Amino acid sequence: MSLVTESVDGAGPAVVRLQHLTTGYAETEVLRDLSFRVVAGELVAVIGPNGSGKSTLIKTLVGLLPPWEGTADVLDGVPATARPRVGYMPQAEHVDWQFPITVREVVSMGLYERRWGRSRWTKRWRALRGRDPRIDAAMAQTRVAELAARQVGELSGGQQRRVLLARTLVRQPEILLLDEPAAGLDTTSEHELLELLRGLAQDGATIIVATHDIVSVMEFFSRVLCINGTLIADGPPREVLVEETLVETFGHDLVVFHRGDHGYAAEPHVAHGRHEHD
Ligand code: ADP
Repeated sequence: MSLVTESVDGAGPAVVRLQHLTTGYAETEVLRDLSFRVVAGELVAVIGPNGSGKSTLIKTLVGLLPPWEGTADVLDGVPATARPRVGYMPQAEHVDWQFPITVREVVSMGLYERRWGRSRWTKRWRALRGRDPRIDAAMAQTRVAELAARQVGELSGGQQRRVLLARTLVRQPEILLLDEPAAGLDTTSEHELLELLRGLAQDGATIIVATHDIVSVMEFFSRVLCINGTLIADGPPREVLVEETLVETFGHDLVVFHRGDHGYAAEPHVAHGRHEHD
């Protein structure tokens, strides 16, 4: 079945569609009865507390986890079929920043789907590095071109994250699935990254971002999905991020505050592994 012929409320072709998706790991059900559609060019945030299933949702859309019930469609088929046209950026904590490798080399690896730290691939991609114009294009898009010859271990956290984004972009994917891309960054670096994502979406990319930073969702995203094992709410942040929905999504682990002319906003107590008792 082709999704590209469908439209959602006349807004354009649906490129991601979940219908009554239930999935999880081994015996553990994580997501239940999730249904939503995303159309081309949307920039969508997925928020929820730790353990609510954000990564699980992203992994399902990348084809790493099969649906137990219901369906997940990406572009014109199942997620695994769409994989070459999808850019996936896992959580940055899985990266070994001490591995001796330059920015250009990291970005070039996105063309070959290799991870650094695996020496058997080193010779091959070192030989190929720098020959594909998409590498320079991706570095320019993410504003790391002037860092091309630097070792990634020497970069700031924000620069490292933009390098990972360049690596994800290098194959020029139509859909980006990003798992907590700004986690652990300072506010300035986070906003630079989100500004980049907004520009990419304006240029036609469809982007789904797992995050628990509600304030940045208010500022940068036009749509937010609140999940906590299932879909709690879906819509524009100003309509969705109200106290009732936030309490339903995050429970009472919530700090509520006001922020300039963005009005009401909130963020969870438990973020980046911080707990109230820490
Ligand atoms: P989030 O991204 O919202 O923090 P996750 O999708 O990572 O949530 O996790 C949802 C639930 O699934 C958690 O209870 C977590 O412990 C569990 N989980 C995540 N990965 C695995 C795994 N590989 N095997 C078993 N359980 C997992």
